[in-house]
Amino acid sequence: MKIALIAHDKKKNEIIELAKAYRDILAQHELYATGTTGTLIMGETGLPIHRMKSGPLGGDQQIGAMLANGELDLILFLRDPLTAQPHEPDVSALLRLGDVQKIPLATNANSAAILLESLKNGVFETITTK
Ligand code: PGA
Repeated sequence: MKIALIAHDKKKNEIIELAKAYRDILAQHELYATGTTGTLIMGETGLPIHRMKSGPLGGDQQIGAMLANGELDLILFLRDPLTAQPHEPDVSALLRLGDVQKIPLATNANSAAILLESLKNGVFETITTK
């Protein structure tokens, strides 16, 4: 399964904690991330990650392009709802494309943990349909 990991700056610690907690299951899948998020997770967990550009420099758009091509199966996008983002249009576009493709997409850490538990327990594929 192809999984994208993205976190806004104030959520970087949360995505690192999630990646550590679910390292074993994440290691069984192909991981993608925006630049800074990917670098941090790789440094903390040693997980191999395909890194895109940093979010504000087009990384969200690159993940969005993968979504449009049907190349992603799960997105964990810990966004910061309390800070204005210079690339807000890219964030909205990514979320919209996720819904177009009906991709399971978490925007906060607890939702992400529930999706990762579902992945770990093997129920993920039985529930999701393309
Ligand atoms: P970053 O991008 O991982 O390069 O910080 C995330 C984002 O802001 O979308």
